Amino acid sequence: MSDKPSLPQIDAEKELIRHIETLLADPAHEGNPLREPLARLLEQNAGQRQRLERLVRISDGYHLLSRANSETLSQQYDRQLRRVEKLMRISDRYQQSLREISEALREASLHDPLTSLGNRRFLMERLGEETGRAVRNSTPYSLGIIDIDFFKSINDRYGHDAGDKALCEVSCAIRDSLREYDICGRWGGEEFLFILPETPLDLAVQVAERVRLGIENIRHDHIDYRITACIGVTLYRYGEHYSDTIKRADEALRHAKEAGRNRVESRL
Ligand code: GH3
Ligand code: MG
Ligand code: MG
Repeated sequence: MSDKPSLPQIDAEKELIRHIETLLADPAHEGNPLREPLARLLEQNAGQRQRLERLVRISDGYHLLSRANSETLSQQYDRQLRRVEKLMRISDRYQQSLREISEALREASLHDPLTSLGNRRFLMERLGEETGRAVRNSTPYSLGIIDIDFFKSINDRYGHDAGDKALCEVSCAIRDSLREYDICGRWGGEEFLFILPETPLDLAVQVAERVRLGIENIRHDHIDYRITACIGVTLYRYGEHYSDTIKRADEALRHAKEAGRNRVESRL
């Protein structure tokens, strides 16, 4: 509901003022005692009207300004909201790419770029895990170290690139000879290591024999040579660190080399 006078009211008031002015201006009413107070009343009324109009203008202006301000504020709020949402999207994408990069870095740090097998770091992580599992479940794992025979002479005869290719072929043969849940990786140079979870030594020797045969039977189309390897196998002993298990497998490997190469040796 508005407090402002309606148009008919304003017209009536204007009409009354005009009537009073006419009366005051009429010389016939000269000397009438009501004339002067009426003139003052008219003057006051005019002053009040002016003040009222000024107040209305100020009030209207203030109202317009506050509406403009509130629109601006809500627009500013919307803009800020859009900016925050955009920043959150950027931050989400950034965090996602950081996660992907760190995952890719972790993958790269655990894999051998030549053969794509897990590297020494990967093997050591898995050895730690498998040792913990073996102790918890009282089911020891077996471990084998593979060393290619006379690999230096392959490099010397066919070149380093041919040696690299042969290493990749040997890697595939090892992977293919193992079971799905067995773990293998490149231990370093022309040496590989495999872990056979929950596997007794006699079974591990059979698996190692299959790996040895797998390597021997590779058909290399880039070298006129039959690559062979020695494998040392052992069983994890409760209470020992896995480095001791590796040492024992290494001893078995040395024996295999001494015994004439292309063979599997085991140590309990
Ligand atoms: P053994 O039967 O006693 O094991 O003889 P071997 O020649 O295999 O042993 P040795 O340790 O003397 O030589 C290993 C060779 O493996 C020497 C090294 O140049 C080669 N080698 C190591 N890493 C790589 C590689 O990434 N690429 C190539 N092409 N050769 C490598
Ligand atoms: Mg070696
Ligand atoms: Mg060797």
